[in-house]
Amino acid sequence: MTYQYWNQEMETLNRADLEAFQLKQLRSAVAHALRTPFYRERLSKAGIQSEEDIKSLADLARIPFTTKGDLRLGFPYGFLSIPKDEVIRLHASSGTTGTPTTIYFNRPDIRRWTGFVARSIYATGCTKADVFQNMITYGLFTGGLGFHFGGEEVGMLVIPSGSGNTNRQFKLMQDFGTTVVHATPSFLLHVEAKMQEEGVRRERIKLTRAFAGAEPYSEDTRKRIEELLRIDVYNSYGLSEMNGPGVAFECQAKNGLHLWEDGYIGEIVNPDTLEPVPEGETGELVLTCLCREATPILRYRTRDLSGFYTEPCPCGRTHRRLRRITGRTDDMLIINGVNLFPSQIEEVIMSMQEVGNNYLIVVEKEGVLDRLTVKTEVAQDSFRDDTRPLHALKERIRKTLQASIFINPRIELHERGSLPVSEGKATRVLDQRPRG
Ligand code: AMP
Ligand code: ZN
Repeated sequence: MTYQYWNQEMETLNRADLEAFQLKQLRSAVAHALRTPFYRERLSKAGIQSEEDIKSLADLARIPFTTKGDLRLGFPYGFLSIPKDEVIRLHASSGTTGTPTTIYFNRPDIRRWTGFVARSIYATGCTKADVFQNMITYGLFTGGLGFHFGGEEVGMLVIPSGSGNTNRQFKLMQDFGTTVVHATPSFLLHVEAKMQEEGVRRERIKLTRAFAGAEPYSEDTRKRIEELLRIDVYNSYGLSEMNGPGVAFECQAKNGLHLWEDGYIGEIVNPDTLEPVPEGETGELVLTCLCREATPILRYRTRDLSGFYTEPCPCGRTHRRLRRITGRTDDMLIINGVNLFPSQIEEVIMSMQEVGNNYLIVVEKEGVLDRLTVKTEVAQDSFRDDTRPLHALKERIRKTLQASIFINPRIELHERGSLPVSEGKATRVLDQRPRG
């Protein structure tokens, strides 16, 4: 196979030069971080007063970790390191309510991010001749605009279709000869099922590739999508704290995701001790952003579980490859690509007087999509002969939840005391989706 590079020099840079580049960028990131109240305090406690204190990449270990909780505390501008009038865009994490985590970009930041997405897309063999349908949510979520700009940068014809509405997606695919799509793996499976249902003939569709990410999926799922749709599927990993898509991406060798190490430093640590794990082992991925000025984030605990492959990739790229992300170290659920913490549900339902004390969150597969059901007990005398108020209550809970978690849940009301009570730590989440 012949491999194509978007930026051959950078993508195949030898390790020593790559690390020298990382050191230069890390110093610049630290300099920016020191302009924010949060990092000024954190870094000075760690004895880092200026970027001069970072003498080698080994000094990274002196920098304290940053968590999502830290980012929330800094809302809204605690992590902004440049004058506000230099900022041209913001994005926020998809599943947060109340206090979101917000990332700001200046013009060079957007340019750099776009470069990493373009590089990722190109690594899968796409060219400017491709027609790219971006079947993912636009808006505060980074997957929409991130891929949109990256696709344009490659020179592809980009169709900003957004997610959902499969019939419209088929129409766009047929009308404009879409060759590449971006979606969550569950939406791709849904698309295939709908194609069968609607009798859309495969020959009418020119699709050759898909970028699938935003949620964990197994190698078997990849193979299934590839066989059913007769396309190549490439794993795409990113998170809003590190800009969004274009952090790590599979090349045509399809064996692990190249972490773009001129933009991000990756470490794998033991989530309990926070010590580095031996090379090649699994642990929590910690990322430092080297390519953004407006919102520097150092040693961010992603909570994602992965590890590095140790052998080189046949494509010739020198950037290390991450293994497929298998899960998380916290309780965050990803439901059809949307992030959700159980506490967000609790916050909403517990603020409603008619809701009792016990509740259970159930996640299942319905067809190929994820389905969220919230079972709650009602406060004591809500169950009366007249069921109308209960219907109204159910609807109110559903609407209130949907407005705050961006997922449409099914609501089940139960009599007080009827949901199972666990003896120890309450089990609030039943994730019944098949693993792997
Ligand atoms: P967000 O900040 O809303 O973009 O969500 C980022 C999170 O989505 C990551 O921390 C992962 O948990 C998850 N995620 C994104 N891409 C993938 C992927 N390819 N495989 C597994 N999980 C992913
Ligand atoms: Zn490769």
